[in-house]
Amino acid sequence: MNHDQAFWLPYTANRAFWKAPRVITGARGHYYTTDDGRQLLDGFSGLWTSGLGHCHPRIVAAVQAQVGTLDYGMGFQVSNDRAIALAAEVATMAPAGLERVFFTNSGSESADTALKIALAYHRARGEGQRTRLIGRERGYHGVNFGGMSVGGIPGNRKVFSAALLPGVDHIRHTYSPADMAYSRGQPVWGAQLAEDLERLVALHDASNIAALIVEPVSGSTGILVPPIGYLQRLREICDKYGILLIFDEVITAFGRVGAPFAAARFGVTPDIITTAKGLTNGVIPMGAVIVREQVYQALMQGPEHAVELFHGYTYSGHPVAAAAGLATFEVYREEDSFARARALEPVFEEAIHALKGEPHVVDIRNFGLMGGIELAPRAGAPGERGFEVFLKCFEAGVVIRNGGDILQFSPFLDSTPDELGRIFDTVRTALRSVA
Ligand code: PLP
Repeated sequence: MNHDQAFWLPYTANRAFWKAPRVITGARGHYYTTDDGRQLLDGFSGLWTSGLGHCHPRIVAAVQAQVGTLDYGMGFQVSNDRAIALAAEVATMAPAGLERVFFTNSGSESADTALKIALAYHRARGEGQRTRLIGRERGYHGVNFGGMSVGGIPGNRKVFSAALLPGVDHIRHTYSPADMAYSRGQPVWGAQLAEDLERLVALHDASNIAALIVEPVSGSTGILVPPIGYLQRLREICDKYGILLIFDEVITAFGRVGAPFAAARFGVTPDIITTAKGLTNGVIPMGAVIVREQVYQALMQGPEHAVELFHGYTYSGHPVAAAAGLATFEVYREEDSFARARALEPVFEEAIHALKGEPHVVDIRNFGLMGGIELAPRAGAPGERGFEVFLKCFEAGVVIRNGGDILQFSPFLDSTPDELGRIFDTVRTALRSVA
């Protein structure tokens, strides 16, 4: 068999792809180069990954130097200087109280790691019956069994229904178009939706619940912004019942919401934060789980020679990834990237909301530099219209993303107003041209 099409692409309509492959061969700054020599403006910063732009010279140089110095190092019972240094940087940037950092290779691994730490924590404290994990409808926590189970996007769960973890439940999502359509930033309505956690506590009893995991701003499901006061209320309820609160900040960390973490932006500190993507600007795969000191200390019991947590990956703390992360953090600081993103937020908000009234548009949502434009689905063919708009934009030289019929936007932390204008002009033209 000819193996030209051996690559099975992730989260892709593979047959449609191979009929007209979209292939990137290079990238610099805010642009991709395609195999047919076109320049594409990246309106998605990679896949929420690359807020500093592509091939940032500082990060490239750090990776090149590291790979020739220490390419890999044994990671169990031994570590490397780069991982130790990056953990210190991450802990310093994290909200006070979250002081320990466990490295993974992806957002999915970060989610599963956080869930396992939550279970181990309760058991170490003599509450081993706290095994129930709570997620939220429409949440996305990656594709591994734990993250998939606490996740709440039906399409990700349907085929694997029988393999979902037992003992998982979900609070309801926070989206109500009748109450919040076209909100700018945080919806005013909806803090009371946090009380749904009380419903699950009443149903399952708090003594059985280990943790609640939520994205502070849901990304992959189409930018669901938490109502004002909602996250604060979740924190209060978790505190009341001894439930660990996990924020999945795989998207929202490192400037995407104009702050180091959404926890800082919203003023709500969880017990565990999961990250990936912007940790290395997407240059080398890496994730990090940042853990409250008390959670870590609860596990540091028993004989000192014994492994405390039976969990880890061959590539946890990979030195080349960690070098990319260290350089990324330097650039975040030097370019004041998070403040720049925050300053750009009102410009982004204006630009995206200017599409209100365009054909098919039924809602527009934004927070930080995350934005969603929801389209009415085509009768009998959900997702088709969104995919067509994505394709039209790609042909016109702008990369966006469609999650079904919700167009998603994630510009660079240092995007220019002109670039934002071009992205949304391209989308406007595409919307006017699709049926
Ligand atoms: N969690 C959230 C909130 C995400 O947005 C993602 C990916 O987009 C993940 C987890 C999974 O990350 P990965 O694809 O790196 O496994």
